[in-house]
Amino acid sequence: MQELDTHTFRLAVAQFDRAAEAMQLDPNLRERLKLPQRSLIVSLPVRMDDGRVEVFTGYRVQHDSSRGPCKGGIRYHQDVSLGEVSALAMWMTWKCALAGLPYGGAKGGIQVSPKKLSPAELQRLTRRYAAEIFPLIGPDKDVPAPDVGTDAQVMSWIMDTYSQQVGYAVPGVVTGKPLSLGGSLGREEATGRGVVYVTLEALRHLKLSIENSTVAIQGFGNVGSHTALIMQQEGARVVAISDVTGGIYNAKGLDIPELIRRYRNSGQSLADTKMGEFITNEELLQLDCTVLVPAALSEQITETNADRLRCRILSEGANGPTTLEADRILVEKGIFIIPDILANSGGVIVSYFEWVQDLQRFFWSASDIQQRLHNIITSAFHRTLQFSNERRTSMRMAALMSGIDQVAQAHLQRGLYP
Ligand code: GLU
Repeated sequence: MQELDTHTFRLAVAQFDRAAEAMQLDPNLRERLKLPQRSLIVSLPVRMDDGRVEVFTGYRVQHDSSRGPCKGGIRYHQDVSLGEVSALAMWMTWKCALAGLPYGGAKGGIQVSPKKLSPAELQRLTRRYAAEIFPLIGPDKDVPAPDVGTDAQVMSWIMDTYSQQVGYAVPGVVTGKPLSLGGSLGREEATGRGVVYVTLEALRHLKLSIENSTVAIQGFGNVGSHTALIMQQEGARVVAISDVTGGIYNAKGLDIPELIRRYRNSGQSLADTKMGEFITNEELLQLDCTVLVPAALSEQITETNADRLRCRILSEGANGPTTLEADRILVEKGIFIIPDILANSGGVIVSYFEWVQDLQRFFWSASDIQQRLHNIITSAFHRTLQFSNERRTSMRMAALMSGIDQVAQAHLQRGLYP
């Protein structure tokens, strides 16, 4: 399919092919799992504040629903494409299976720069998108969540639009909602918290202490900022952080709560806060540090810069931050990689808790949520590590192979319809 042929989709398929080859996956299944199960492209006419009508393009892709309802975020970004959304949907399938969540994978997106829209325009765009993908979504069918460029407010509009159509409140149709609408405690920081939990396990495995660790984080959105905050609370020194315009570095450690306060309240770039020395995103990736967390967009670590990375652990907060060629170089250099589908799975794990609470109409405490997240993500980490040691394969291949194996079993057990 030509429309799918983007570099992100090629990366997802190349990873899948390599894992499928190593596990000698049934060739029939291999053909099927390379492509999404269902894809919807929607045109979204939106009345702009100046009276014009602008038409945006949106997508919802369900990669696989063999293990349960599809699950995955919605991305608002100017570079969103069918290929990118399809790659992200495939990664969601492996991610949910690896964590043992009863979900398949999906992803959605709109090609838009959300910061260029007024709140009213953003609301009209979101509601039209929700109305257009209405036939696909629902608590038993497909449950969206936040991703790059979307947040709890966007989820509220989707929940409301869906609920208006059916005539009653359906909190379980999306996760990442505000608490007042059936959101879960701990969901907002869940991805960052998960990144920290698996990183702590990796440090322990490598016999390194968190107190002596330095951390550099690319990206200061939901994942980057919460990772930074929780890393610091756990005793690490966060020495560098960046946004799209560049980053700041301070060898003594950055004051993360103060940075978050200034960054959120002033709308300044990180460099404008003057809380550290300016560095480019490229320089950040190449810093000498214990832990590097890419928490921005995909394909940041490529064969061009991989050889210059100087971290001990690469903990992938973003989806698809490392190309396959780069991955090989990093493994050769002996960098311990916690692959994206494991490292950033805290978000969807707590989304699962939110959905369960919504369906039960019974809500859990913050400590329950942290404890359960910790149990699920650290056991996924140790299962992956064990698999990687037993099969003498990388952590990435081990994670992919375990996830794919769960999905393959579901397909084989269900059989081929009709
Ligand atoms: N967008 C997040 C991810 O890529 C969360 C998805 C979800 O909670 O459904 O994993």
